[in-house]
Amino acid sequence: MTKLKLTIKIAAICVMGLFIGCQTEEADVNPTTNGTTSTTVPDVYKKIYGASSITTDGTFLIIKTNGTPDHESQYFPTNNALYKTYAGTTFGGTEFKKNPNVIATQTLTFKIPLNPTVANNHAATPLGAIGVALNGVAFYNQYAGPNNQVLTSEIASFDKYYGHPTGTSQYHYHVEPLYLTTVKSTKSGLMGFLLDGFPVYGPTEESGKAVANSDLDVYHGHAHVTVDFPKGIYHYHFTSDAPYLNGNGYYGTAGTVSQ
Ligand SMILES: [Zn+2]
Ligand SMILES: [Zn+2]
Repeated sequence: MTKLKLTIKIAAICVMGLFIGCQTEEADVNPTTNGTTSTTVPDVYKKIYGASSITTDGTFLIIKTNGTPDHESQYFPTNNALYKTYAGTTFGGTEFKKNPNVIATQTLTFKIPLNPTVANNHAATPLGAIGVALNGVAFYNQYAGPNNQVLTSEIASFDKYYGHPTGTSQYHYHVEPLYLTTVKSTKSGLMGFLLDGFPVYGPTEESGKAVANSDLDVYHGHAHVTVDFPKGIYHYHFTSDAPYLNGNGYYGTAGTVSQ
């Protein structure tokens, strides 16, 4: 039966007075637009001050950033106000040695679950962005390249604030983002979120105790109350030793990033 014939038939039945309050809406009206989901962004995500926009569809948060740091770096083009030469040590006391890459503006869209949940299968983190820092810079995992190449030889190229750009000019942090832990926040503060929606904290707990790998599970996190999440939440921590941020994959089900 065509929709038109169905509508006419239902209308005819109504006219006959056999139904009270009967409607002529057709059965194939989209049932998903029920309007019951919240579209308010919780305050904690507003701490991502580097985002150009943060919105939610009630299921995911959509966080857009240009991926560039808000701190000085020798990796900016020399005509950028934040360009600054640096000589000295970087992460782990390694002598800084610049790589040939230059920071450029990116178009990053992080889509992360609004209500993160533990995954049955803990997917490995890929190369490229795996999360977003409060200043809009991407977080990367503990590997330098395909087949789990270790970061060791790249650590020297981390700048004063422990980040560096890729060959495609995407600036990122594999380890503690020093500008956030020393200038914008503290060693125990919220640093950002991974794509699974679980938060990332600095290398100490709020008590001041340094977090060791042995305090964390294989995904490099654990659960307890934080100032941002008074009911308690699973969270990752940066540590001074590898894997630095994430271990054997995401704890939760990851969202997506377009970069
Ligand atoms: Zn890197
Ligand atoms: Zn913790």
